Amino acid sequence: MRRMFRRELRRSYAPPDMILVLQRANELMATGDYAGAASSFEQLARAAEGRTGKRAPLLYIQAGRARIFAGQSAMGVDLLERGLGLFAVRGRPRKLARAAYRIVNELNQRGLTKEAGQITKYVTELEPGINLNNAPVEDSEKHPTLPTHCPGCGAPIHPDDVDWIDNVTAECEYCGSPVRGEN
Ligand SMILES: [Zn+2]
Repeated sequence: MRRMFRRELRRSYAPPDMILVLQRANELMATGDYAGAASSFEQLARAAEGRTGKRAPLLYIQAGRARIFAGQSAMGVDLLERGLGLFAVRGRPRKLARAAYRIVNELNQRGLTKEAGQITKYVTELEPGINLNNAPVEDSEKHPTLPTHCPGCGAPIHPDDVDWIDNVTAECEYCGSPVRGEN
């Protein structure tokens, strides 16, 4: 069991019980137990939606990816749309564009072209100007390289999406742990 990295309680820090479930969900995802991971991510997404809702979109997206990889395509597409839709209602078009681009690319790479098409259609109706053929423009600010996964919860880190606490420290989007750059 990974030790939890505790710091002073911060506004956006996920509750400890959530971090445990999140660690477990990320482990299940990494070991290929997609159905198990999906149940955990769904539970987390619903709980997050009931609180501030800040983490709900990404958690629904993880749940959706897990369902699709488990072969539960229709459920997976619904969950992905729910997550992406939450970015749209919350006025986060950049987050929406980046997440949608990543998802569509990943689905296509896995040969899941039907699902990729469904997501493309959904997102294009949501944000008519969106371009899913090119990677969204990256943040031009210089920051150190981040680890690929959060040391606190094991979630993947997307350097273009994280919020930076200072020049070398970003915040995990899933659990709120500070994640330090590697150089
Ligand atoms: Zn984390």
